[in-house]
Amino acid sequence: MKVLKFGGTSVGLPQRMHHVAQLVTADKESKVVVLSAVSGTTNALVEIGELLLKGNKSGATKKIDTLYDKYLDFYKELLSEEESLFKGKEIIDTHFGFIRYLLDSSFSEWKEKELLAQGELLSTKLFYTYLKEIGIKAVLLPALDFMYIDEDGEPDVEYIREKLHERLADNKGNQIFVTQGFICKNAEGLIDNLKRGGSDYSASLIGAALQADEVQIWTDISGMHNNDPRIVEDTFPIAELSFEEAAELAYFGAKILHPSSILPTQKYNVPVHLLNTMQPQAKGTLISSKQNPGAIKAVAAKDGIIAIKIKSSRMLLAYGFLRKIFEIFEKYKTPIDMITTSEVAVSLTIDDDSQLGAILDELKEFGTVQVDEELSIVCIVGDFVSEKKGIIEKVIHSMNDIPLRMVSFGGSKNNISLLIETEKKREALLSLNKGLFHK
Ligand code: ASP
Ligand code: MG
Repeated sequence: MKVLKFGGTSVGLPQRMHHVAQLVTADKESKVVVLSAVSGTTNALVEIGELLLKGNKSGATKKIDTLYDKYLDFYKELLSEEESLFKGKEIIDTHFGFIRYLLDSSFSEWKEKELLAQGELLSTKLFYTYLKEIGIKAVLLPALDFMYIDEDGEPDVEYIREKLHERLADNKGNQIFVTQGFICKNAEGLIDNLKRGGSDYSASLIGAALQADEVQIWTDISGMHNNDPRIVEDTFPIAELSFEEAAELAYFGAKILHPSSILPTQKYNVPVHLLNTMQPQAKGTLISSKQNPGAIKAVAAKDGIIAIKIKSSRMLLAYGFLRKIFEIFEKYKTPIDMITTSEVAVSLTIDDDSQLGAILDELKEFGTVQVDEELSIVCIVGDFVSEKKGIIEKVIHSMNDIPLRMVSFGGSKNNISLLIETEKKREALLSLNKGLFHK
């Protein structure tokens, strides 16, 4: 069994959906096909939700009409036989009927989640109708029947496994199962979702639950690149990554994969293959448990970083100081990314500044606090365990002319992080490209 996930752009036009149908029927293997909403849909639904929360009915109606028209064009190009055209129109009218019904009901956070779920429900139902039209036998598996998050918002893989096996057993003899990414039920039995970009996560959870042979994530680029293609010209797709390296890269800027989506597949050791819908022959990136000691794989950067330095003579020879500082960040639910310490100071970085004021007020009780903004973390990802020397020298040497605000090495064997001014990011990525990937 394989799990194939297609993102919003891969199903963003009727012709692309036709192409996805070709890809999923190219062999006779059993597969679960996970689809995102047609590109632009979730954004539009978010905007409609925001307007409704503000009580702006006419604004919301306008947006709903525009989206509806888009779908009317879409299904007419997707489908061609009378019976399926009828079905397609019915699907669209049902879901837009629901969206319009929300206009007249009192709108709440939970209604908003139901609103957001319409995108994936539409894309999968339309795709399924197309498969039927071209004579492909498939089953539409409602994600809301098996995708479940607990009280803490965490997916429950065991529950998902049990429910999925039941559904598959009900549909024995079938090869293609189509389901929605992103959407789920929560502990209260209400419709919820796995957060923006969450379809990757859905695919990974399904792959883990079924112990699939492989999870394929189909997007519009050929895998993860070794550097930022918007800045560096000669980037190339990385053929293989370990789960740990992929997780670092997903977090530090490679937008291709939802950062949480590595975890379930890693835990159940299911390889993840990143592939390109527009270039199905390209090798893409294969993420697995295979290690490649000593290799430098990629450079990535994350902007919007804030550095906080706390300096205090009370830290000298004291214990428990770091705990007190961390507790403040914990209290304000703000994750810390990088950290370095000296005997009398701690520097750390965050990327969520929503609680910054309150955090600083409490930190000031410990000593002098300095804050720097508009910083970027540049990280070098690879497998540095067997490297006795060499890599860090190469990295620092490449960064010769760029002031380094913090350096973190040894936190994990897969990452070297450098904190620099965002203004210098371009130069840093270019220099590292030259120093690390060109002999
Ligand atoms: N449709 C959702 C979004 O746009 C989920 C996804 O595409 O992964 O965020
Ligand atoms: Mg995505």
